[in-house]
Amino acid sequence: MKVKYKCRKCRHILFSEKEACNAHGISFSMQPNETKFLETCKQNAEICYIKDDEFLPWMKEQVETADWMRGKLFCPTCSSRVGSFDFVGGSKCQCGLHVLPSLHVVSSKIDREPMICS
Ligand SMILES: [Zn+2]
Ligand SMILES: [Zn+2]
Repeated sequence: MKVKYKCRKCRHILFSEKEACNAHGISFSMQPNETKFLETCKQNAEICYIKDDEFLPWMKEQVETADWMRGKLFCPTCSSRVGSFDFVGGSKCQCGLHVLPSLHVVSSKIDREPMICS
């Protein structure tokens, strides 16, 4: 089963589970036993990160417009703000062991939707 994340406002599919990761850069699609150690760090459920190497074209476009510095991330179709990115700060997660992924979306701006694949 695949999970898609849609813009809450216009229902446009923004990204899938494949691109998403948590504060430690661990993919959401990984097996639960592989994510066990994550419990050492309190995850912020309000935030969903995107892996640097999995940026989709619309993300890359906005990041490039900001010269890979920092800025806000907008839905490519309705232009409502869905998150932000920061390639300059390099802030760390709560447990202090990892540098947070540079781009994130805010959970309240998106809808998580399981897709049944045939
Ligand atoms: Zn939208
Ligand atoms: Zn951590």
